[in-house]
Amino acid sequence: MKGMRIFLPAALFLLCLCLSPAAAPAQEWDTFKVDHFIIFHQDEESFARKVGEKAERYYNSIAHDMGYARYSKFWSWENRVKIYIYPDKAEYLKNTNSPEWTEGLADYKNRSIASYAGSENFTDNVLPHEIAHLIFRDFVGFKGDIPLWLDEGIAQWWTTSQKNQLIQNSAKKLYERDAILSLDDITNFNIQDIGNFRYVKKVQTKDGSTAILILSPEQLINTFYLQAASLVGFMRERYGQDRFARFCRDLRDEKPLEKALQSAYAEYFKDLKGLEKAWRAYLAK
Ligand SMILES: [Zn+2]
Repeated sequence: MKGMRIFLPAALFLLCLCLSPAAAPAQEWDTFKVDHFIIFHQDEESFARKVGEKAERYYNSIAHDMGYARYSKFWSWENRVKIYIYPDKAEYLKNTNSPEWTEGLADYKNRSIASYAGSENFTDNVLPHEIAHLIFRDFVGFKGDIPLWLDEGIAQWWTTSQKNQLIQNSAKKLYERDAILSLDDITNFNIQDIGNFRYVKKVQTKDGSTAILILSPEQLINTFYLQAASLVGFMRERYGQDRFARFCRDLRDEKPLEKALQSAYAEYFKDLKGLEKAWRAYLAK
């Protein structure tokens, strides 16, 4: 798991994937430093300055929210996270070996974020998403039984609140169309296996019967990330951030996923199936 890279796709919402690390960037970079980040850029400094200011703001909110502040020295000085802003998407894709469908990536091993300049999407969406990935992983480490949907769902939470509402509305539409994958499926799903094939899966419909869902690779990626974002949003809003943080701490302390769910959410459900039932009931409303 060390050295894992998480991507942010350009598709419907903000999505990611893990691949092997790319070669170090070879360009000439200018740098701009703030407390917890070094911004590497090739265009004018004003954009890098804006990125630095926003990154600090996101860092403070996200770290505080995760109860991470006491470890914050880990992000200072020589441990500052590196943010590489390529001049355009083509340069970003070429230099990071990222798939076409991505918008950015978080590289845990090199403690870096990469994306490209020129859009509000970078500072408003890509940046908080990738910072959340890095903080979450610093917090939980790599030993625990942490499903990708949790990682992605948390990163997704850190886009604007308006976007969260958009996510829940889209998830409700997915539910309405009987196109929800089971939590068991998304927990055991290896997104690196996505090829050019159609994904065929048995799913449960609203009335409890079984149906066959057929998805293209792109639809599968969108479905996975939409469900991840919706689930984390649901868990946090319905049962509170404190309980959610306890759940994450238990995972960090190497409790298996179902055990961590059981201990944090005992009053509501005791396993993935129970969580899925509660979440489906929420989507049905
Ligand atoms: Zn992500």
